[in-house]
Amino acid sequence: MSTKSDSKQVDTQVDNVDEAEIAKFEALATRWWDVNSEFKPLHDFNPLRANWIDRHSPVAGQTLLDVGCGGGILSEAMAHRGASVTGIDMGATPLEIARLHCIESDLSIDYQLTTAEQLAETRTECFDIIACLEMLEHVPDPSSVINACAKLVRPGGHLYLSTINRSPKSFLFAIVGAEYVLNLLPKGTHSYKNLIRPSELTRWVRDAGLEVNHMAGMVYNPLSRKYRIHPSDVSVNYIVHASRPL
Ligand code: SAH
Repeated sequence: MSTKSDSKQVDTQVDNVDEAEIAKFEALATRWWDVNSEFKPLHDFNPLRANWIDRHSPVAGQTLLDVGCGGGILSEAMAHRGASVTGIDMGATPLEIARLHCIESDLSIDYQLTTAEQLAETRTECFDIIACLEMLEHVPDPSSVINACAKLVRPGGHLYLSTINRSPKSFLFAIVGAEYVLNLLPKGTHSYKNLIRPSELTRWVRDAGLEVNHMAGMVYNPLSRKYRIHPSDVSVNYIVHASRPL
């Protein structure tokens, strides 16, 4: 059931939204909470990234914004740990799934159909912690999202960003391997040119007036089929912790 506020008013010339990317996620959304679906990688590394965030900035009692929340896998993990969570996404169907699942989980999460840029116009310095995970590689201008997050986070607050490196290894594992050999993800889920090098991401973070505090890899072992946090191997999936100076 869509609420009235979910009617999209996107001007793709103005808004930093790629409608074709949103459509891909809307088509898959009903399987979002199926741990054996296309979203399996998100489920597999969710405990790792949730622990990593909680370790660097304990989330209990904090206001947390999840940008590009999709069906709410991270939002729920953060709410379970006691954060007061707002989740935003430009996919209406993922948000419907997120709202329904939140009720089943007996959690209270504020899900809204909007962009970080739109929210930054009214909610300046409102959030203690912002997470924008596995989303930047799907938008036309990732630096615009980071600038919006820098406005939304309070001075002294934290920003977490994760994405996929634009490296030969990513091309082999995250695109050819995951999409064409193992069929873990639908073909075309990730486009190589939109992947983001750590040097590019950290430059955008610093240009937005934030400090880079930590970076770590999320490394997949195809034999054990498990992810682990790696202190330095950022060759495929990686996560960055930044903060806004006081
Ligand atoms: N962050 C979630 C979901 C990642 S999938 C997780 O890691 O579990 C990427 C999500 O970003 C999709 O739900 C897609 O609809 C959303 N998205 C893409 N472009 C967006 C934009 N410009 N604004 C808000 N959400 C966007």
